[in-house]
Amino acid sequence: MIYLDSAATSFLKPPETARAVTGAMARFASPGRGIYGPAMDAAETVYRCRETAASLFHLPDPTRVVFTMNATHGLNVAIRSVVRSGMRVLVSGYEHNAVVRPLAALGAEMLIVDTPPFDTQAFLCGFEKKLDKADAVVVTHVSNVFGFILPVREISALCGKRGIPWILDAAQSAGSLPVDFTALGAEFIAMPGHKGLLGPQGTGLLLCRGDAEPLLYGGTGSMSDSLSMPESLPDRLEAGTQNVCGIAGLLAGMEYVQRRGVDQIRAREGRLSRTLIRELEQLGTLRVISGPEQNQAGVLSVIPVRGSCEELASRLWEQGVAVRSGLHCAPLAHETAGTKKTGTVRLSVSPFNTEAEIYETVRIIKKIMQNNYIL
Ligand code: PLP
Repeated sequence: MIYLDSAATSFLKPPETARAVTGAMARFASPGRGIYGPAMDAAETVYRCRETAASLFHLPDPTRVVFTMNATHGLNVAIRSVVRSGMRVLVSGYEHNAVVRPLAALGAEMLIVDTPPFDTQAFLCGFEKKLDKADAVVVTHVSNVFGFILPVREISALCGKRGIPWILDAAQSAGSLPVDFTALGAEFIAMPGHKGLLGPQGTGLLLCRGDAEPLLYGGTGSMSDSLSMPESLPDRLEAGTQNVCGIAGLLAGMEYVQRRGVDQIRAREGRLSRTLIRELEQLGTLRVISGPEQNQAGVLSVIPVRGSCEELASRLWEQGVAVRSGLHCAPLAHETAGTKKTGTVRLSVSPFNTEAEIYETVRIIKKIMQNNYIL
C-alpha cells in the first residue's frame, strides 16, 4: 500500500509507538491514584509526556499541557472556555467542523474571512477588517483540505495588539511545522496526538494559557473531598482515568519527532509535496489546487477534469493507493474555495513516504485517467 492519507491519521509511525503502547499495557496501573510501583511508573511516563510536549511547543510549565482524546476534544474545551452564546467569533474560511460545530452549538455568531486559498495578503487584509468586530478568534494553522498555511504570527500580533483572545487549531501542523506556544500567545492550542505527533489514535493535547472550563466532571485523584473540580491544571481538565497506554505511545511518537527535528520533517514533506504537485500538474487531467512553497504544507487537493472525486479515490485504492475524497469534514473550506459541489481528492504525505511512492502514485493516476477508467 502507498499511504497518502496522513492528514486523517498517521498510519505510518515509528515502531517505537506501538512498542510503547503494548509495554504500557503490561506495566502500568492508574497514574496519580496510588503509591505502588505500576501506578508510579504510569505517573512518571505521563509526566514525561507533558514535559516532552512542553519542550516541543515551548511552554515554560508542563502542567499546562492537558491530555485529550483528540483535537476535537481539545477544541471543544478551548471554545467553551473562551466563547459565550451571542459572542462574535472571527474564523478563517478554512475551519474544520471541529471548530464550526462547537461554535454553532454555543450560539456564537461567526465572522468568516473567506478569501481564496494561498493568498496570504488578501487573508490578512480581510482578517484585520473584521477583527475589530470580534470578541474572540479561532483559526486553523493549516487547512486540512488544501494545505494552505495560515499566517499565524501575524494573526497573533493583530490579536495581541487588540487584546482579543484567540485559539489555534494545530491539528495539521503539530509535528510538521514549528508551533511556539510562548511566542504565539494564544489562549489555547489544540492538537491531535495521532497525526503529526505520531502517537496512537485516542490521544490529543491541549496547551492552556487561559482559565479553562472543564467539559467532564469527575475524579482526578486530587481534592477528593470537594464537590468542585480542582482549579489547577492539568487536573481541572483531566477527570477520570487517563489513556496511559495512548500517552506512552504519544511520548514515543513525540520523542521521534524531537530526534528527527520538526524542521527536517517540514523539509521532507515539502520536497514530497512539491514533487507531487509538479508531476500531477504535468498530467493535465487534474485541477491541482496548490500554493507557493512557503505556504503549502504536505496536504494537497486535486479535482479530476473528468469523473468524480469518489471514483478516482476508489480506482486509486484498487491499485493500492490510500487517499481520501469528499469534503474532509471541512465544508466551510470548500465554500471558501468554490469546491463544495465536487469536493476534492486529498493526498497528504508524511515523513515516512518516499519519492518513489510519489512517482508511482502519479504513474497510477496517469494510467487511470488515460485509460478512460474514469467516465
Ligand atoms: N482540525 C483540523 C484542521 C483537522 O484536520 C482535524 C482532523 O482531521 C481536526 C481538527 C479534528 O481532529 P481529531 O480527529 O483529532 O479530533
